[in-house]
Amino acid sequence: MNAPANVAADAGLQTPIRHQLFIDGQFVDAESGETLATLNPHDNSTIVNVAMAGKADVDKAVAAAQRAFPAWSRMPAMERGRILLRLADLIDRNAEELARLESLDTGHPIRDSRLIDVPRTAATFRYFGGMADKFQGDQIPVDAGFLNYTMNEPLGVVGQVVPWNFPLMFTSWKMAPALAAGNCVVMKPAELTPLSSLKIAELMAEAGIPDGVVNIVPGLGAVAGQYIAEHPGIAKIAFTGSTATGRRIVQASAGNLKKVQLELGGKGANIVFEDANLLAAVNGAAFASFHNQGQACIAGSRLVLHEKIADAFLEKFVALARSIRIGNPLDPNTEMGPLTTLMHRDRVLDFVDVACGEGGHVLTGGKPGAGDLARGCYVEPTVVRVASWKDRVAQEEVFGPFVSVLTFSNDDEALQIANSTEYGLGGGLWTNNLQRAHWFAREMKSGMVWINCYKRVNPASPFGGTGMSGYGREMGFEAMREYTQVKSVWVNVDAQIAPHYPR
Ligand code: NAD
Repeated sequence: MNAPANVAADAGLQTPIRHQLFIDGQFVDAESGETLATLNPHDNSTIVNVAMAGKADVDKAVAAAQRAFPAWSRMPAMERGRILLRLADLIDRNAEELARLESLDTGHPIRDSRLIDVPRTAATFRYFGGMADKFQGDQIPVDAGFLNYTMNEPLGVVGQVVPWNFPLMFTSWKMAPALAAGNCVVMKPAELTPLSSLKIAELMAEAGIPDGVVNIVPGLGAVAGQYIAEHPGIAKIAFTGSTATGRRIVQASAGNLKKVQLELGGKGANIVFEDANLLAAVNGAAFASFHNQGQACIAGSRLVLHEKIADAFLEKFVALARSIRIGNPLDPNTEMGPLTTLMHRDRVLDFVDVACGEGGHVLTGGKPGAGDLARGCYVEPTVVRVASWKDRVAQEEVFGPFVSVLTFSNDDEALQIANSTEYGLGGGLWTNNLQRAHWFAREMKSGMVWINCYKRVNPASPFGGTGMSGYGREMGFEAMREYTQVKSVWVNVDAQIAPHYPR
């Protein structure tokens, strides 16, 4: 069933909403005929029923990708790159449509979808389009008489499982390097937010990506996702989502020893020192904590303040949090939209009770949306002063507009707090002391460190974590390495060297 015409029209969409699986270049229903409703988190109304892939559909997608692989992987890299560059241009041309669809399905404020999600998606395809013919092997100085060189070969069919917090952007983070390197893809978007990746599938066909190179199979994680992780025809699985699911994927992948790449949770420490530019730090911390309703693995969800500036900082920060305009994501004035589901909203609100039970103080927020917003998945920007870094709200990922405030009195204590969780994804610090900044950059247990900024990302810069935040890196040359395997080739270039044991 297509989306009711008024849903698309009310959201200002110009084209029909895609709601079928994308396999072998065609939009098709699931073999079982089953569908799953995707909801608008603003009011929990159904946007559209989306085909729900089962094992038979994943098998079809893998078979299509296997058929497409020889031609795609042998296509001149420059030509593959040119197709990705065309796709980036098509994303630019369809920017408003993509932004509206993303906001409708995820709750991202439209201004963020326009300014962040869509441009970054285009930029990622453009960067890896340009990278396709620049990622090259080495010639290695080995023994006299021998030439040794390496080739970077694509892996084959790769499985990709994407979460619901940045579905459009993460589709590009996962697909662009995989495709540039010559792999074919079977991708499962989150069952909660499949719409923007299906729109990308439409644009991919228009850009000239051959049938079968990309297959998109919305469906349940425990069914389609799990089967992708197990599938013997898939050479690698790349996953973004929770640490618990990451563990399951590692176990499921063992059958054929798949290569696994995991981008999991985080509990970023955002440290503000006594010498920081306070206004810049307050603004940076608001973006770090509340952008995308705090649903970001790199969110600065622990605000770690020097005790000398804590009160002055919090006065400004709380005032800013209270001034954030919450509302319908499609309203251009909205600064914070709803969370993705009611269940997730309630989970975030439960953490307010946990914080209070642990002796924390709610400085602002901690409540669901009121009035017209009560039907949706809204949570007010929430700032909680936490009693100890050992508390659950200082250790566990809340994944909402919820920031835990801790204080410290010296650099060693700040570092100890920063490194006290099992995660290690992103962290930041605000200081004008150069020596301290670089010392922390070295000592922080974190895949990414931001100094006097927070949550900067770019397609050229490696992205990923350590510890329970996972392993492997997205973006940059690192991503190309993740999607290739190295072959070492030896050539005897000296006729005098006998190819057997010396006698
Ligand atoms: P999740 O890990 O369950 O879901 C993410 C993706 O994994 C979805 O596409 C889902 O369908 C799929 N999935 C679920 N079970 C699977 C399985 N057994 N095999 C393969 N794929 C499977 O995350 P969630 O439950 O939707 O969110 C819970 C928590 O996950 C959040 O509160 C947050 O802590 C974390 N999370 C992190 C990120 C991130 O960017 N790192 C993104 C989303 C969620």
